[in-house]
Amino acid sequence: MNYRVICMALCLLGVAITIKAQGKKMKIYISADMEGVVGVVTNEQLGPQGFEYQRFREFMTQEVNAAIEAAFEAGATEVVVSDSHGNGQNLLIEKLPKNILLVRAWPRPLMMMQGIDGTFAGAIFIGYHTGTTNPQGVRAHTISSARLADVQLQGVSVSEAGINAAIAGHFNVPVIMVSGDDTVVKETTALLGDVEGATVKWASGFHSAKTLMPEAAYQLIREKVKKAMGRIGDFKPYKLKAPIRLDVRFKNYRPSEMLSYLSIVERTDAHSIKFTGKDMIEVSKFLEFIVTYEPSLEP
Ligand SMILES: [Zn+2]
Repeated sequence: MNYRVICMALCLLGVAITIKAQGKKMKIYISADMEGVVGVVTNEQLGPQGFEYQRFREFMTQEVNAAIEAAFEAGATEVVVSDSHGNGQNLLIEKLPKNILLVRAWPRPLMMMQGIDGTFAGAIFIGYHTGTTNPQGVRAHTISSARLADVQLQGVSVSEAGINAAIAGHFNVPVIMVSGDDTVVKETTALLGDVEGATVKWASGFHSAKTLMPEAAYQLIREKVKKAMGRIGDFKPYKLKAPIRLDVRFKNYRPSEMLSYLSIVERTDAHSIKFTGKDMIEVSKFLEFIVTYEPSLEP
């Protein structure tokens, strides 16, 4: 083949690939927490009682918007977002684009990953924080800072990012990007490998950080989501081999005492219990149950 023929063939191939890419569905899942949002350092930003909460809902929403916009620009055809902090009703829905779907409030069987399934191409974690056994990171905790001192999967302490990556992994969906402080980016890449990380602040302690300004954080998140989407084939799902052993250490005594009444639960020490699930779905439902259930639940 001469040079012109080769050029033409390559050009046609390029067009064919582009058309195929355009016709293909690309669903992206975004799980949004708040502790890792730009500027967040204490409870004052994190819940309805805090004097800065209403403004920080705005910043959380704009960080999620930055990720959504970048995902669509980079080829996503559908986006599902889960509001996964506190009461699950933080994101300002009128400020989100009309072409997404949003998961709100609790309880829900897949916790911070509700709405994910095997049709998604990748998962993005926005506003995430380190796990409860990590001595570093703004508001480091796993699921409940007041109640849980450790959560382990297969004998290894995990953060929310780790639990949620394993739920995504159950559906063969890889995590492609995480945003939060420098310590959660470090912790998450140590567990999951080379996922893209957007560091929007640097932790100086549990309640202190040096932070970017909101506009700079949105821009960084946009860049990192685009970068992750551009190499989405690089990421591997985080899959745990079934059955899955879950160990939970409570800060108090009575939860482990009461849970040991159930034959599916074993009390492993004064504060700790063990549960074995056939897969991450069972583990997720069990975790949601033990942190949510109380007989006084209404309605
Ligand atoms: Zn969290």
